[in-house]
Amino acid sequence: MKNYDYIAIGGGSGGVATARRAAEYGARALVVEAGRLGGTCVNVGCVPKKVMWYAAGIAQTLRDAPGYGFSMGEVHFDWNTLKAHRDAYITRLNGIYASMLDKAGVDVVRGFARFVDPRTIEVDGERFSAPHIVIATGGRPLVPDIPGAELGIDSDGFFALEQQPRRVAVVGAGYIAVELAGVFNGLGSEVSMLVRGPHLLRPFDAMLRDELMAQMQEDGVRLHFGTQLRGVSRQADGTLRLDCGDGGMLEVDALVWATGRRANTGALRLEAAGLAADDKGVIATDAFQNTTVPGIYAIGDITGRAELTPVAIAAGRRLAARLFLNQPDSRLDYDTIPTVIFSHPPIGTVGLTEDEARSRLADVKVYTTRFTGMYHALTEHRPKTAMKLVCAGPEERIVGAHVIGDGADEMLQGFAVAVKMGARKADFDDTIAIHPTSAEEFVTMR
Ligand code: FAD
Ligand code: NDP
Repeated sequence: MKNYDYIAIGGGSGGVATARRAAEYGARALVVEAGRLGGTCVNVGCVPKKVMWYAAGIAQTLRDAPGYGFSMGEVHFDWNTLKAHRDAYITRLNGIYASMLDKAGVDVVRGFARFVDPRTIEVDGERFSAPHIVIATGGRPLVPDIPGAELGIDSDGFFALEQQPRRVAVVGAGYIAVELAGVFNGLGSEVSMLVRGPHLLRPFDAMLRDELMAQMQEDGVRLHFGTQLRGVSRQADGTLRLDCGDGGMLEVDALVWATGRRANTGALRLEAAGLAADDKGVIATDAFQNTTVPGIYAIGDITGRAELTPVAIAAGRRLAARLFLNQPDSRLDYDTIPTVIFSHPPIGTVGLTEDEARSRLADVKVYTTRFTGMYHALTEHRPKTAMKLVCAGPEERIVGAHVIGDGADEMLQGFAVAVKMGARKADFDDTIAIHPTSAEEFVTMR
């Protein structure tokens, strides 16, 4: 048996961050990782996704170029070359993660961890114990149980695709669905989205939902709302036939499930630690990441709260400070978390939607603007930018800021600081605009 001060189960965003910080504060720390270091974000999430988003952006820039006087010969795009370059980048990142942990003095053990008791885990027959164990095992895609579902791929399968499908159906309307549909469409696939409800991005502000829907349709994505897949079958020529119910059929080369995720708790033998997960694998935690068992904590996607990399990292770092830096109040505030959706165009959002604000707060006032960014004055493709500030109370405190349009992804971070600090509309009005930008509209709305 090897003894540590701290064991992180899972070497993804949360596990790596918390173990490194703990080691920095003097703890003997261990990370156990069953797959590739870096977890979902590095291997099958944020990083390869953003590379693909850039690729789709380059394709759009090439289409925009004639407006700026460029004439080009025929442009070729090779999915396989892009994938090879992307994979090589991720392999480099895996190495960087390994050397970061090594430099920090964190031990790494490869394999699946399972609990033996609340202080002990086992990995391939070897036992490790610590007074503090954090579960950071993340999640994996969830696919509905319908006939032929296995003929489709999930987001992990998307990153494994060697060839670009000519016609693709994406099921779902959340983050992953709109991002992957946007990438396929930008790179020239024929894309259909099958959405069970009436909206894309159901939990988001209505302005963002409506603008994205309009732009995706304008860009040629076929949106099928109120559609629930009944079954999938492979035809003799290899194509997939999708039964969309009520006699509706669709023929595609690839089907992508983007229908949510479930937490990775199955292999952990939680019962040996006296813990339980809900039916989606989620482990309940309090405001300090404590589970119901003293000395066992959970961070990141496994907790089912704001499934974002910076959230897993921040929760893990604050937990390390609480446990090993004598900071008993250190914890993550889950309010007002900014987030970006790498759709086409991208979305940035922080705080309450207009509907949420109206149902919870008094004196809600909303400012909006909608315009065509200057870059598009000379292009044929003319997506709109739309912004909304949701203010509440007599002081018009900004409780929500939402933007869709070029640059939204880079624009929001600074505004998120202002919203988190409790900025009022008057503070925005008092800030001099930076011209000519799209972001300036955030401080000139009336
Ligand atoms: P993970 O990063 O998933 O790490 C968990 C690790 O635990 C994995 O490496 C797994 O192999 C390991 N593991 C599981 N079980 C065991 C076990 N029993 N023993 C040992 N190891 C185990 N977030 C953003 O902020 N921005 C984005 O742009 C973004 N894009 C995304 C795109 C996609 C397609 C997906 C799927 C997610 C995206 N996310 C994004 C979400 C982000 O990836 C996650 O929120 C983040 O990775 C969660 O970190 P984590 O540490 O909780 O889990
Ligand atoms: P989301 O929760 O965002 O979306 C799931 C989607 O699947 C919803 O549209 C839901 O529809 C739909 N759905 C669920 N079950 C079914 C079903 N049986 N049939 C049809 N549709 C179904 O999950 P994602 O998997 O897209 O993303 C997981 C999380 O990962 C996100 O919440 C986010 O936190 C993180 N992420 C972050 C990114 C970023 O920061 N840019 C990018 C990608 C992921 P309905 O709305 O009707 O419930």
